[in-house]
Amino acid sequence: MHSSDLLANLNDRQYAAVTAPDKSVLILAGAGSGKTRVLTTRIAYLLQEGRANTSEILAVTFTNKAAKEMLTRLEAIVPYDLRRMWVGTFHGLCNRILRMHAQEAGLPKTFQIIDQSDQLALVKRVMQSANIDTETTDPKYVQNIVNWAKENGLRPSHLTDGDADSTARSVYELYQTTCEREGVVDFAELLLRCYELLERNEIVRRHYQSRFRHILVDEFQDTNVLQYRWLQILGGAGMGANGSSLNAVFAVGDDDQSIYAFRGANVGNMADFIRDFRVGEPIRLEQNYRSCAVILDAANALIAHNPDRLGKELWTAGERGDRIVVKELEDDREEADWIVRQIKAEYERRHSWKNFAVLYRTNAQSRGIESAMTAHGVPYVVYGGLRFFERAEVKHVLAYLRLLVNPYDDASFRRIVNVPMRGIGTKTLGDLSEEAASKGLSLWATIESWGSRIPPKFFVFKTLIEKLRAASEEMTLPDTVKLIIRTTNLAEHFRKERDVEERIGNMEEVASAAAGFLRNEGIPEDASPYEPFNEEGITPIGAFLAQATLEAGDKNEDQSTQDRVQMMTVHAAKGLEFPYVFIAGAEEGIFPHFSAQKEEGRGGVPEERRLMYVAITRAKKQLVITHARSRMMYGNHFQNPLSSFIEEIPEGLLDMRPWVAPEAPPPKPHIWRERTFGQASNWAPRDKNYQKGDRFYGSSSAQVKVRRPTAATTQSSGYWVPGSADKELPSAK
Ligand code: ATP
Ligand code: MG
Repeated sequence: MHSSDLLANLNDRQYAAVTAPDKSVLILAGAGSGKTRVLTTRIAYLLQEGRANTSEILAVTFTNKAAKEMLTRLEAIVPYDLRRMWVGTFHGLCNRILRMHAQEAGLPKTFQIIDQSDQLALVKRVMQSANIDTETTDPKYVQNIVNWAKENGLRPSHLTDGDADSTARSVYELYQTTCEREGVVDFAELLLRCYELLERNEIVRRHYQSRFRHILVDEFQDTNVLQYRWLQILGGAGMGANGSSLNAVFAVGDDDQSIYAFRGANVGNMADFIRDFRVGEPIRLEQNYRSCAVILDAANALIAHNPDRLGKELWTAGERGDRIVVKELEDDREEADWIVRQIKAEYERRHSWKNFAVLYRTNAQSRGIESAMTAHGVPYVVYGGLRFFERAEVKHVLAYLRLLVNPYDDASFRRIVNVPMRGIGTKTLGDLSEEAASKGLSLWATIESWGSRIPPKFFVFKTLIEKLRAASEEMTLPDTVKLIIRTTNLAEHFRKERDVEERIGNMEEVASAAAGFLRNEGIPEDASPYEPFNEEGITPIGAFLAQATLEAGDKNEDQSTQDRVQMMTVHAAKGLEFPYVFIAGAEEGIFPHFSAQKEEGRGGVPEERRLMYVAITRAKKQLVITHARSRMMYGNHFQNPLSSFIEEIPEGLLDMRPWVAPEAPPPKPHIWRERTFGQASNWAPRDKNYQKGDRFYGSSSAQVKVRRPTAATTQSSGYWVPGSADKELPSAK
C-alpha cells in the first residue's frame, strides 16, 4: 500500500498524529476517536517511509488479544516480515527481555511464571512455615501488599511502618526468598525485575535504548508507576536534545477511560509524560467514528459528572440512531432470558452472532447469562471467565510439564506429588517441607539428598518424573503432554467427579494448545521440547509454559474468530467495539459496584462512572441496558434500585421500559401487587398518588423513584402502561 493510501481516510488531526516527527507525542482523545487506529497506522507509515525498520519498533498493548489484532492488521497493510518487531503487553515484553537476560537478571534460565492464585497459595505456605496465623493476618491482604509494593518498585527493605505492618513486611521478604529459591516469578515481579535489570545493567539498557527508536503505547491512561518508569528508561526520557527523550514515545490514551486505579494505574502519568518527555501540546482527536449520535451524547452526558477531567468533547458525523433501551426485568433469570431472546430475534433478522456483546460489571453475572444462552441454543464465548489455563486439571498437566523443565519448582511439586494419589498425605508433605526449610533446599533436592534411604512412595514419584523427562527428550511437545496424561493416569484422579469427561477433554486440549503454539511460533512440529529454537536460547517447552501462564484464556480467544455472541466484563471490553451492546445489571450496588463506596481513595464512584463510560462507548449501532427488580447474588436476594448512572443520561436519549407482568395470570400492574422477596420485604407502595404514565424504579417501597414523563418521552411507549405489551428491540438501521 502506498503512503498516500494509508493516510487517505484520516482526518486532519489524525493525519498530524500519524505523520508527527520522530519525537515523543501524546494523543489525548475520547473513545472511538481512532487512537488505536492512528497508532497502528503510524507504525505502517514509519515502516513505509523508511523512518524505522521493523526491529526498531516496540508497541505496547493492553491485552494479548489486542497485540494479535494489531499484528494482523499490520500484516494486511504492509509487505514486511514483522517478526522482528516487538508487540505485546508490558508483562509479555518484560518476560521476553528476562528470558534473554535471565542470568543478568539473577534468574534461572528456566524460571516459571506463577499466576495470582499460585501466588496466594505461596503466600499462605510461607506464612504457615513461619508460624504466622492466617486467621489474624489475611494472606490476601499480604498478597495485596506484595503486589502493591512491587508495582511501586519497592522491595521489602524499602517498606516502612507507614506502608505496611511488620508481619506483612516479613512475609513479603520470606515470600521473595522462596520465589528466588524455587525459580518462580509472579506477574508484578516480571515488571520489577525487568525494570531493575534495565536500571542496573548499563550494557543491557543501552542495547534496548538504542534498538527501540520508536515506542508506541496504547491505553496509556492505565499504566502504573512502574510501567511508566520502565517507559522512561527505555525511551531515554530527558536524554535527548534539550531535555527531550532519546527515543520517540508515542502514547495514546483517554483519562475518561482510566479503569485500573484499583490496580495502581495512575492517570497522573499523562501530566508527567508531558513534562518528562518534553511533549508539546497533546494532540486531541474529537471526531468519533464508532457510535451513533444518541450513544455518544449519552456517554458525554454521563462522563460530564466526573470531577477533574482533562476535558474533551466528542462529536460524530454519523447517524443519530435509536434511543438507548433501558429495560427492567423481574429478576436476574428473566433478565438473562430476555437478553438472549432479544439477541435471537435480531439475529434472525439479518445478523451474525458476533455482532452482539453482553457486558457486565462482575464476573459472577456471567453464569446466569451463559445458561440462558445454552437454553436457547445461542453460541457464545466468555472472555476472561473461567479461563482454560486456570482450570485445576489443566494446571495439573502444566505442573508436570514444569517439573520436567525444573524439578526444583516447589509449587509444581506440591501440586502434583500426590495427584493422582500416591499415599503422600499432608502430614508426610509437611515433614518434607520442614526438612527442606531447615536444610534450605527445595523439595526435590531434599528427596534427592536422601539417596538410597528414600521412602518407596517418593521413590515412585521421583522415578516417574525422571522417566518422563528422559522419554520426552525424544518426543515432540504435544506428545509429551499426551505421555504425561497417559503415564500418570491423571484421568483416574477425576473419575469420581461429575464432569470427568469435560476434565479429560480439557487435559487433552493442552496437547492441542501446545501444537497450536508451535505452529504460531513457526517452530517445527518435530522439535525437541528442550532444544532452543532461536539464538536467544528459548526452548519450546519453556516458551509454551510462559505463554500458558501469561495468556490464560487462549482457548477462549481462539474461539472468537468463530461466530459467537461475545460475553465479557466491562474491564475486558476496553478498546473493543460491537454493533449491538447489552449492559446487564445496571443497578445500584452492581454498577456502580458497592465496593466503590469504601474505596474513595482508589477511584470510588468516578472510576465506576468511567467504567460505565467505557461500557456505553463500545456500542456502534444500538445499546440496550437491563436491570432487575430482584437478584440472587452471592447466595442472597437483593433488590437494587436502578443505577444512578442512568439518571445522569438525558431522558430524551432513553427508551425506558419498566417491567411488565407476564400475560397470564391476568395482568395486574405490578406496582400494586404485594411481593415478598427473600427476607420478607413487602413491596406495596399503595399510599402514594400515582398517575398513569409514571415510571417506577426499584423494588422496595423505600427505593421507589417516580419520574413524570416529559413531552418527549410520552410520544414513545417508553413508560409504564398497565398491561402494555413488551416491545422488541427497534430494528437496525
Ligand atoms: P477506544 O478509546 O475505545 O480504544 P479508539 O480511540 O482507540 O477507541 P479506534 O478503535 O481506533 O478508536 O477507532 C474506532 C472506530 O473508528 C474503528 O472502527 C476505526 O476503524 C474507526 N475509525 C477511526 N478513524 C477513522 C477514520 N478516519 N475514518 C473512518 N473510520 C475511522
Ligand atoms: Mg483503542
